[in-house]
Amino acid sequence: MIFVSATTFAQTQKRVKKPKNIILLIGDGTGLSQVSAAQYFKEGAVNYERFPVVGLIKTSSSSDLITDSAAGATAFANGVKTYNGAIGLDKDSLKVKNIVAFTSQKGMNTGIIATSSITHATPACFYAHSKSRNFHEEIASFLPNSEIDFFAGAGLQYFNKRKDGKNLLSDFQKNGFTIDTVALAEKKDKKIGFLLAEKSMPKMVEERGDFLPKATQLAINFLSKDNKNFFLMVEGSQIDWGGHDNDAAYLISELIDFDNTLGTAIDFAEENGETLVIVTADHETGGFTLASNGENYNEIVPSFSTKGHSATMVPVFAFGPGAELFGGIYENTQIFHKILSLLSE
Ligand code: MG
Ligand code: ZN
Repeated sequence: MIFVSATTFAQTQKRVKKPKNIILLIGDGTGLSQVSAAQYFKEGAVNYERFPVVGLIKTSSSSDLITDSAAGATAFANGVKTYNGAIGLDKDSLKVKNIVAFTSQKGMNTGIIATSSITHATPACFYAHSKSRNFHEEIASFLPNSEIDFFAGAGLQYFNKRKDGKNLLSDFQKNGFTIDTVALAEKKDKKIGFLLAEKSMPKMVEERGDFLPKATQLAINFLSKDNKNFFLMVEGSQIDWGGHDNDAAYLISELIDFDNTLGTAIDFAEENGETLVIVTADHETGGFTLASNGENYNEIVPSFSTKGHSATMVPVFAFGPGAELFGGIYENTQIFHKILSLLSE
């Protein structure tokens, strides 16, 4: 006689609800002190606090205890630990299929947004494969032929002022893209790309304005049209750069802009009900701390301990169907594998 206990039955019934859409937001260089800075320096509500599930990731790369953004993004986009500097390759320099290819093959629309060049290490891992993050022109050549349907960021010079003389803007056109180099705007075309600066988008303190939340809203509208499911990656690229510069005003203004962007994503997810929003970072930058001013515990002095990255774990925040998978402590590569497990039927 087969006996199935009530609890076993209940456990098999308890399946993780699967999302239709996935928005992955990466705050480059955003450790817990950076996130905490929003509480103390942002006027108004902090969107990080709207996420019910929080986890921590271990970020070491295959080559180093402390990762760079290329190995960090390869962990998220390709699901493997690799050496610092590698874009979408494993530790033996072999190409690894990325999450954009996986989601695209499932019939999902895909998009990427960054405040750096779109060829910079973090976004690059979502469509390119290169032995070095420094090969911007090689990385650029992957984008027109990728599965990406929407992108926004900077780096125009790597497409149209290349050492090999090629103009990749015509390759985009051949592959059904409309490219805008002037401003974010709604478009009805099949695929769209915005390349809005030669190298990097301006800093927030240099009046970048609402580019990041606005591009995120535009991407959501574009990618979800005709009831299509989508995968979108959004990077707050310059939080990291404020950390490298040990410039607290730069870092905090970029962090607040990123937090506003989280608001755009989670507002959509709340209304849509079938969207998983995941927020994390590739590593911490600057060894940033919210230190006391000596004995004065009522004054915070944002401080740095390095011009580089640090080895501390970084937080993961999740909202929506499947969010419960993202609690706990795990390796950065698990972000990729958890997302993939939510896509499989
Ligand atoms: Mg980055
Ligand atoms: Zn960095």
